[in-house]
Amino acid sequence: MNTPPTRHASAEVPRTGLNADWHQVLTHVPTPILATVGAVVAQYREPLATEFYSAMMADPEATVFLSHTAVHTRLHASIQRWMDTLFGGQHDDPDGMAALQRQVGEVHARAEIPVQLVSRGMRLLKTRLVELLVRSDLSRNDLVLAVEYVGGLMDLAFAEMSAAYVRSHEQGARTDETFRMVTAGQNAALERHKQLGALTEWENTVLRGLATGLQMGTLASLRSSAFGLWVQHKAPLLFDDSPELERIAQRVEHLDGTLLPLVVSRHHQPAQPGRSPDGSSVLRDFLADLEETRFLVNSMFDRLSDMEVGRDVLTQLYNRRFLPTIMRRELSLARRQENQFAVLMIDVDHFKRVNDTHGHETGDRVLQHIAALLMAHGRASDFFFRYGGEEFLAVVNEVDTAAAQQIAEKVRARVEQAEFHVNEHTPLKVTVSIGLAMHTGHPDYRHLINQADEALYRAKRSGRNQVCVAADTDN
Ligand code: GH3
Ligand code: MG
Ligand code: MG
Repeated sequence: MNTPPTRHASAEVPRTGLNADWHQVLTHVPTPILATVGAVVAQYREPLATEFYSAMMADPEATVFLSHTAVHTRLHASIQRWMDTLFGGQHDDPDGMAALQRQVGEVHARAEIPVQLVSRGMRLLKTRLVELLVRSDLSRNDLVLAVEYVGGLMDLAFAEMSAAYVRSHEQGARTDETFRMVTAGQNAALERHKQLGALTEWENTVLRGLATGLQMGTLASLRSSAFGLWVQHKAPLLFDDSPELERIAQRVEHLDGTLLPLVVSRHHQPAQPGRSPDGSSVLRDFLADLEETRFLVNSMFDRLSDMEVGRDVLTQLYNRRFLPTIMRRELSLARRQENQFAVLMIDVDHFKRVNDTHGHETGDRVLQHIAALLMAHGRASDFFFRYGGEEFLAVVNEVDTAAAQQIAEKVRARVEQAEFHVNEHTPLKVTVSIGLAMHTGHPDYRHLINQADEALYRAKRSGRNQVCVAADTDN
């Protein structure tokens, strides 16, 4: 059985950065102060949450994020829960507390809530809490400690949130960039062509330089060539976790640091006994290293079209990895232009039976066929994702509820009418159930997906092969 860490047991483990700060703030507060702050928060969290919300709503920048009724209801409750967790005196799990703040930061990032707005909200809460503590019966000394404690915790919470927010955004930017490449497959092909060309150009410059007797100082390094700059600056955006990229960077360093100087210094010297390696073997190594680099670039680009980063291999629909990119874009378009859009969650009915009766391969072909139907009957501006095994998600833009319902109904009917030929006498029939949710202004796209999911669940329970509209959607 795991024993929960005691407040002091973990003190010997060296801690760094924010982690150390949490432990510092949480383990050095006298118990009576913890109790008083906890009691003040418990007594006033409800009016504090209400005041927080109305103050934020007075800010025109905030209303766009907060005016949705679901946000109001949830935020009101979640702010109170957050205050409880932070000041409730449950301080035996600083790491868990820090993790919670990071989750909040990620939600803010998904909803693209500006950091300055969060910071304003935090300042407001801090000021009010301090005012309440001043009115409590704490002695002057204890009041100072209590104010320090409240301020310290809130600053730490904000620091964790902001750090998580920034990380989420950086990750998002990388996915966005890859998405741009994948959506325009030719762009990736063009980029590959361009970079291989840049590498060859550098190689030719060096070889020409050698032939005309140029000295080392006059030859530009690979690192400073167009290719080298791309490896440093652009490639990490496209291939963030790629093992090849790391190796390419090593090759560039080896070529610049070791092989190029050797090639230049040995090139014009004839092979001498006892003096190894001679010019031509050095040149061979140099060319081999370049060839290896070229190979690595190619395999890195090859993987760009794999499932991990691009489209789903089986269905050729977008991989769900790109969902955040698309959702963020649609949300910001909706905010700026007041366009509505819908999410359809599409799940194949009784798909397990298809597999069980006809085999997994047939099942795969049915999924491919359904994906093709989606693509054929969706509009060019809609996005279709393979969301899970036999689940698809469509983002249908610039529609009202009626139009979205029509599209969903069309998809449902097309699948119902389709005959899936599976090398058997009787063609196989399948149906899909669809949950539809309209974007109604909630800034977190997870909310929209959950709504579509709930509607899908209702469609299943009501007998399958039908479209259900989320309850949150105005009809
Ligand atoms: P329901 O109508 O409630 O959705 O029933 P269901 O059988 O479709 O749902 P369930 O979630 O029980 O089963 C889904 C099945 O889909 C199980 C799994 O083997 C199958 N599946 C998931 N991914 C794939 C895939 O890539 N290929 C094939 N052939 N089958 C898959
Ligand atoms: Mg399913
Ligand atoms: Mg299913």
